[in-house]
Amino acid sequence: MSEHRSIVKRYFREVECWAWCDICKEMIQMKLDKEEIQNGLELGIYTKELKHINPYPDSDDPDDRSVEEHTIYVYIDDKYNVTGVKSFFGDSPTIQTLGQKVEGAEVRIPIVVKDVPEMSVHLGMITQEQYKVLKICDGMNTLEQVAEIAQKSVDEIEEMMEQLRDKGLVKVIRRT
Ligand SMILES: [Zn+2]
Repeated sequence: MSEHRSIVKRYFREVECWAWCDICKEMIQMKLDKEEIQNGLELGIYTKELKHINPYPDSDDPDDRSVEEHTIYVYIDDKYNVTGVKSFFGDSPTIQTLGQKVEGAEVRIPIVVKDVPEMSVHLGMITQEQYKVLKICDGMNTLEQVAEIAQKSVDEIEEMMEQLRDKGLVKVIRRT
């Protein structure tokens, strides 16, 4: 978990948020429309994707790549709390980037293998909580990160993954 806590200011119609970018080594500021978040929540977590370059680059450092465009993902819950932040170059974070977080240990990455419509919740096939967690299993988060973003314990997520795997909805990729 990052020691750089995200800051959120809630206004009437919008939310102002500062999230730590691991590439810039800066807090990145963004404004979000509350309605946009609520519409994007779909019972779960809203993911804000922001392409940017470092607003305050270190001009003395020739190896500083933060002046190249990169992306920050900010995961936001229905109370407008930031529950996760991720920075990466390219279209999506690589498995290597994910692996760095838990060096030496086995990395488990849950991935949705079957598209699950929201209707499945209304039909009682899966719970709201399972639906929310499935949305975070985008192949960009380790099992521990899914737990952090969903604000659940790793044990709970492990148990849920077993249930969802039995339903043929997820698989857990392991990297050592
Ligand atoms: Zn950045």
